Amino acid sequence: MTPFRYEHARDVADAIARVGRTENAQFIAGGTSQVDLLKEGVQRPGTLVDIFRIGLNQITDTESGGLSIGANVRNSVASDHPVIRKRYTAISEALHAGASQQIRNMASMAGNLLQRTRCPYLRDPAQSCNKRDPGTGCAAVQGFNRLHAIFGQTDEGPQSPRTCIAVHPSDLAVAMAALEAVIVVESASGERRIAFEHLHRLPGDDPSRDTNLAPDDLIVAIELPALHGRSHYLKVRDRASYAYALVSCATAVEMDGDRIAKARIALGSVAHKPWRLPAAEALLVGEQPSVDLFRRAAAAGLEGACTYLMNGYKPDLARVLIARGLAETTGLEPLQGAAGTAFAASVGGIAGVHEVA
Ligand code: SF4
Repeated sequence: MTPFRYEHARDVADAIARVGRTENAQFIAGGTSQVDLLKEGVQRPGTLVDIFRIGLNQITDTESGGLSIGANVRNSVASDHPVIRKRYTAISEALHAGASQQIRNMASMAGNLLQRTRCPYLRDPAQSCNKRDPGTGCAAVQGFNRLHAIFGQTDEGPQSPRTCIAVHPSDLAVAMAALEAVIVVESASGERRIAFEHLHRLPGDDPSRDTNLAPDDLIVAIELPALHGRSHYLKVRDRASYAYALVSCATAVEMDGDRIAKARIALGSVAHKPWRLPAAEALLVGEQPSVDLFRRAAAAGLEGACTYLMNGYKPDLARVLIARGLAETTGLEPLQGAAGTAFAASVGGIAGVHEVA
């Protein structure tokens, strides 16, 4: 591990000032993901500014009928919060589906969204990786790419300084995308709000950047707009706990009588950011729920997927998850487990996937 300075911030303004005036400084909250990256030499900050004791740990109603979740709220607090479980079920399910209870007890909500990809080459300094060391190439393109992207990747070959086919690992981010959360950020120039779809970025021509945040941008809260319907999160993984998604799917649906008024679908572990499916969502509006409709929406959502030697299973898996997620969110099929729990979120590993009847 590279030596670094460790400082405690007193409040939000002090934290932003400390990171702003110090070259190569980073915020740290729960540290559950960041400390691993420090130990592995993937991140080499000169200074860490600890923000875990500056507050930002409240969950409050907003005036518009939504919910504001402080950036430092711990994952375990949010996952079991009664309002989140009832009104934003996908958030609770996504949190229960991630990591372990011990990690959820430490991890912050903002930190969860900012965790880095689990591409194994990022964490192996002996391998080429444009995200870790820009310009060195991408070992994943011709390597172990079972977990990698099928949408939005940059692939100009293994030697290109632009190539990156990594996926974002956060379960929570997928649920936030389907719920159209808003990120509240403070910096030296004041407060601004970022639509969730603009928080993370695709690799484009700079794979080293995961988000559109500047170094001294501090997430202070995540706001969820009012949802007049239901949401649900499903995750398929190699084993039934403590594993990252092979593919995951969050759905949020609002009904008008027996017809779908609004539907939002986001896939996880298919792209460098949570991947919304606007073509599939548009197909659903004004329609009555049916297996055939959900299959057609899933097919539309997966158009254009680009697979690699080892991840050709992902489009089929995603189609099944979308259809099942929509069926369970609209009530066409019963929920496979109590809402807002790990049992509802997980399909029990890859062997548990089944077609909607
Ligand atoms: Fe690095 Fe991205 Fe390639 Fe993985 S996919 S080796 S993170 S550049």
